[in-house]
Amino acid sequence: MSDHHAREVWEATLGDLQIRVTRPSYETWLKGTVGLSLNDGELIVGTPNTFVAEMLEQRMYSLISQAVEKVVRDRVEIRFQVLRPGINNGGVNVNRDLAEDSYPGTASNSSPSPQKQTRVKINAKYTFESFVVGSSNALAHAAAAAVAEQPGRAYNPLFIHAGVGLGKTHLLQAIGHRVHQMGRSLIYTNSEQFTNEYIKAIRERTTDDFREKYRTIDVLLLDDIQFIMGKEQTQEGFFHTFNTLHMDNSQIVITSDRPVRFLSLLADRIRSRLEGGLVVDISPPDLETRLAILEAKARTQRVEISPVAQEVMGFIAELSPRNIRELEGNLNRVIAFSQLTNSPITMELALRALADILSQRDRPCISKQAVIDTVAAHFSTEPQVLIGRKRDKRTALARHVAMYLLRQELDMHLAEIGRIMGSRDHTSVVHACNRISSLLNSDAIFRKDVLAIRNLLLDQAARS
Ligand code: ADP
Ligand code: MG
Repeated sequence: MSDHHAREVWEATLGDLQIRVTRPSYETWLKGTVGLSLNDGELIVGTPNTFVAEMLEQRMYSLISQAVEKVVRDRVEIRFQVLRPGINNGGVNVNRDLAEDSYPGTASNSSPSPQKQTRVKINAKYTFESFVVGSSNALAHAAAAAVAEQPGRAYNPLFIHAGVGLGKTHLLQAIGHRVHQMGRSLIYTNSEQFTNEYIKAIRERTTDDFREKYRTIDVLLLDDIQFIMGKEQTQEGFFHTFNTLHMDNSQIVITSDRPVRFLSLLADRIRSRLEGGLVVDISPPDLETRLAILEAKARTQRVEISPVAQEVMGFIAELSPRNIRELEGNLNRVIAFSQLTNSPITMELALRALADILSQRDRPCISKQAVIDTVAAHFSTEPQVLIGRKRDKRTALARHVAMYLLRQELDMHLAEIGRIMGSRDHTSVVHACNRISSLLNSDAIFRKDVLAIRNLLLDQAARS
């Protein structure tokens, strides 16, 4: 639940902070935060993760509280709280693909309620100029460039397939920028937006307008087609749009995070159409390309590429081998950390900035059996008793601690925990976890006990 007033206060504060901190700091730490509630002089601010919450709390608190107080003209305590995805964000768009530009083609107003029509916007940064070409993406890049130069002539449709965070949206929007520069009309949309629009057109009986809107463009850029799998109506709309455009020699470019042959729920006729064009893949970048991407990103942020900075980038490149979005995120963290603490980029600083990622990676692997054995030993009982039927107080408590640790430390599914803990159903696991959480909050001695078990488990795992 976010209340309107808190949201406004926080937005006004963000507006002020935006001019007081550097852009990378703002982007890394403040963007994506939301005002959740403001009561009795306490403002609760939602953050995307604990790292951001800690950073804001520990390093930017006084700056932030001054800014808040300027807005509300009163003393305010600020508390940061991690947002769970989909909850609490009060409809605020926390999408990282910042919408900055929108082209006329994307904002056609053929629908009867134009003010309600949400546009999919295109990011000013996603251009061919900022796209680093390496062996993993050279083919996709060349095809995209050819299509942008000669829409409808080179390869039609062009289908770009790649895993998450490997540059599909970037390339697709780069085509959009180029096509727009050449004075041609285009629509960039994703399949979710396309679906919404089409369904709305059906509901409001404006499918003619819908078709007309798409018929008049030179280039259709459709991102993430995998989302229309299984949606029959949308597929129907897409198929007609596709045919119309194709017959007019308009260019169609489609991306997907799955290869065409795996788009199993996509109607066969669409699939065979896609296969009739050019299909290109982007694979995860090799080390050299990852380094080149990091250097390019660092340069746009005006980071001096000293030998030490190069070493740090080598380290970051090793750290996130598959996903370019992660690669970028890690670099941004390091840069922001250096700016916020006013210290140069060094290996030591990078290790601190990336501490939580490193600790996740190096987290020793605790086994289920170790949890059961260790908890049983701590409560002076036997593993079989723990997973058995005995229900005295002490056994029940031990059992609950084991369930809690399996959930917290091993991140196991509730049902799976229930199963290995003697075929109990998942509601009893939920109950156990809640009970232990609240005990941990209220009982310091119990907390020490559980921490001791946890540390023991971590030690054992690290040694094995
Ligand atoms: P996808 O759509 O495949 O999930 P994106 O296009 O959103 O991935 O890319 C994720 C991030 O990585 C974006 O910030 C994008 O600019 C960046 N990126 C991906 N590939 C490249 C590349 N070859 N050169 C520079 N940046 C890239
Ligand atoms: Mg994308």
